[in-house]
Amino acid sequence: MPLVIALTGGIGSGKSTVADILAELGADVIDTDAIAHRLTAPGEAGAVEIGRQFGSEFLRADGALDRERMREHVFSDTTARKKLEAILHPMIRTAVDAAMEAACGSYTVLVVPLLVETGAYQGLVKRTLVVDCSETAQMERVRERNRLPEETIRNIMASQANRAARLARADDVIVNDGDLATLRNRTLEIHRHYLRLAEKA
Ligand code: ADP
Repeated sequence: MPLVIALTGGIGSGKSTVADILAELGADVIDTDAIAHRLTAPGEAGAVEIGRQFGSEFLRADGALDRERMREHVFSDTTARKKLEAILHPMIRTAVDAAMEAACGSYTVLVVPLLVETGAYQGLVKRTLVVDCSETAQMERVRERNRLPEETIRNIMASQANRAARLARADDVIVNDGDLATLRNRTLEIHRHYLRLAEKA
């Protein structure tokens, strides 16, 4: 059984940056968010099924999921959120399994932003790597990256697990409170650690 690491962290913590560095170093990286985006692109199975079950007003003119509209719709409506998840989660899972089969590196990193919140992929992963940083750093990075208003960022952060809950699930932690060079060094250390574990597995 190959070594599979779940990578998670709050919005803006630096997960994607860490995933990119690990991929550069040779890990097989499977990003569940990227898969969800692919499945909801124009004409793809997820977008088609969402249009069928929610109505075409949830699709953009090109047939892609209207993410903004869906986000607003499911934010306060649990039934709608569960309906959306029932469409997408099995499709994502199938794609993850296929990507796992195709993986050929020393170890695989599965990026799951809401790992702690959803309890997903429990049986599949051996270890959980949490990217952690201060809430101030999260706010600043997301504001820079997405140009979102502070209140929207606060709402997203409030809907996610807090730092303590995430850290309680961690086998390994990357603290990302410094600069990018520091993050790169720490990620290299973790990569070496996983190579050693993969050899023993
Ligand atoms: P996530 O995937 O967890 O939402 P990202 O990896 O996309 O977070 O990082 C959020 C933003 O912050 C990106 O624009 C990224 O380049 C930047 N960033 C991440 N870590 C650092 C850091 N240590 N120093 C400066 N910028 C950073």
